[in-house]
Amino acid sequence: MNRKSILVALVICFSLLFSVVAVAADNGRYVKVIAYDVNIRAGASTEDPVVGHADYGDQLTVLTAENGWYHVQVENGKTGWIHASLVKEGGRFATSNPTISVAEATVASLNVRGGASTSFEVVTTIQPGTPYPVLQQSADWVQIRLPDERVGWVAKSYVTLNEAKAKRNAQAEQERATVLIDSLNVRADPSQSAPILGTLKQGDLVQVTQEDSAWMQIDWQGRKAYVKAEYLKLPGKPLPSTETVPGPKTSDIGNPTLTLQDTTNIRSGPGTNFALLETGAAGSTYPVTGKSGKWLEINLANGQRAWVAGWLPQVNGDITHLPERGQSLDGVLHGKTIVLDAGHGGYDVGAIGRSTGVYEKDLTLPLTRLLANKLTATGARVVLTRSDDQFISLDERVQTSKQEACDAFVSLHYNTNADPNLSGTMTFSYNETGLDRELASRIQDQLVQHLGLPDHGTRFGDYYVLRENPQPAVLIETAFLTNQRDEQKAKDPQFQDAAAEAIFQALVETLK
Ligand SMILES: [Zn+2]
Repeated sequence: MNRKSILVALVICFSLLFSVVAVAADNGRYVKVIAYDVNIRAGASTEDPVVGHADYGDQLTVLTAENGWYHVQVENGKTGWIHASLVKEGGRFATSNPTISVAEATVASLNVRGGASTSFEVVTTIQPGTPYPVLQQSADWVQIRLPDERVGWVAKSYVTLNEAKAKRNAQAEQERATVLIDSLNVRADPSQSAPILGTLKQGDLVQVTQEDSAWMQIDWQGRKAYVKAEYLKLPGKPLPSTETVPGPKTSDIGNPTLTLQDTTNIRSGPGTNFALLETGAAGSTYPVTGKSGKWLEINLANGQRAWVAGWLPQVNGDITHLPERGQSLDGVLHGKTIVLDAGHGGYDVGAIGRSTGVYEKDLTLPLTRLLANKLTATGARVVLTRSDDQFISLDERVQTSKQEACDAFVSLHYNTNADPNLSGTMTFSYNETGLDRELASRIQDQLVQHLGLPDHGTRFGDYYVLRENPQPAVLIETAFLTNQRDEQKAKDPQFQDAAAEAIFQALVETLK
């Protein structure tokens, strides 16, 4: 081709490209949110005012994309801008809408247990009226997925099983409000003295039938009931603002404190994705030492730092000048792309825990999410090979790494061995020199420090996701699911948070 015909061909290509893009937008171009409680802004810059919020897993329709920002449809026809680092584009989410099996409780406050027998502890309770995706069934028990990505088992005789469209279900979930506190009383009338019909737990989803500033009318087992509005997060709305409580002036007291107004979760970091350290009783007071977004850092009696959602307690004193904790590592990984690969998924359950039957695929995902959130806070662009329970081939995982030209590819797994006594951590790379090995040994060192499990060292691993990967790649076997002690630990959110923190520290050290 001569220059002129190349030019003509290019023009044709571009006009074709533009019409394809226009059609794609009409057919629904989607992004999935991959961080928690992210801001949606009026314009394509962090200077623009916040007009809305989105949460992990939310699916947003894309109108246009420019300069690293997506212009998205929020709700009620409103639009806003979200930064590209906080989302993963996935047109395929829009087209496939598989039928999934869902379970619904037929009795009030049905126990959800850690395993398929009444000997397992109750992890939460569920109410009629909400369908939960079914993961697997045994003769008498059904394993369901809970809203906060936990899983649990319910007795089959107390649920009805139905088929539902995955997307409609997800949509219905999005239209419900989320309970923000551990235990929320459901009352017959909008008054503190009205009879209590039952309680809702943190993360429960409720259908709001009428909104009010003080009390929300909700659907409770098919009837109208009321809960305090401040303890619900409505979909697509910012979190309720802290009540203005006339507190003592800063000059009157040395340092700000907070007083819990209700039983409140105290976590290891500023977000509901961080490990639950303890639950604080109503009336407990703690010194406030820092803040991160809407979360407040407190000092526990034992001197440990911990975090409370800032909209829940009463704050005494001026907190405006407290240090922003999120900023210490802010931007340190700006410009870096990290692909996180949660091992297994869908019908590939991975290893199965010897004592509780937990699936490796259900442990790699929360670990990946905890790590993703820590990394996102440093300005890194984090891409997940899977953000939910779906099967992804090994090659697709490698393709994601290639396409993103990532600075690091981290595959997260749990190990098995015929010997039930074998416990510990190991980290693999295919290349035995260079950045792969440097990252692998830093990760191994940090994991051993943070988790305290036996050190099986940094090793050569002939794994597809490492061998076929052109980018720096490591694979982590966090602990052995065939070892009873390791398996129990692997299920503990505090252990998961410690593992995520270890890998996070190693990535920061290596890539900063
Ligand atoms: Zn695995």
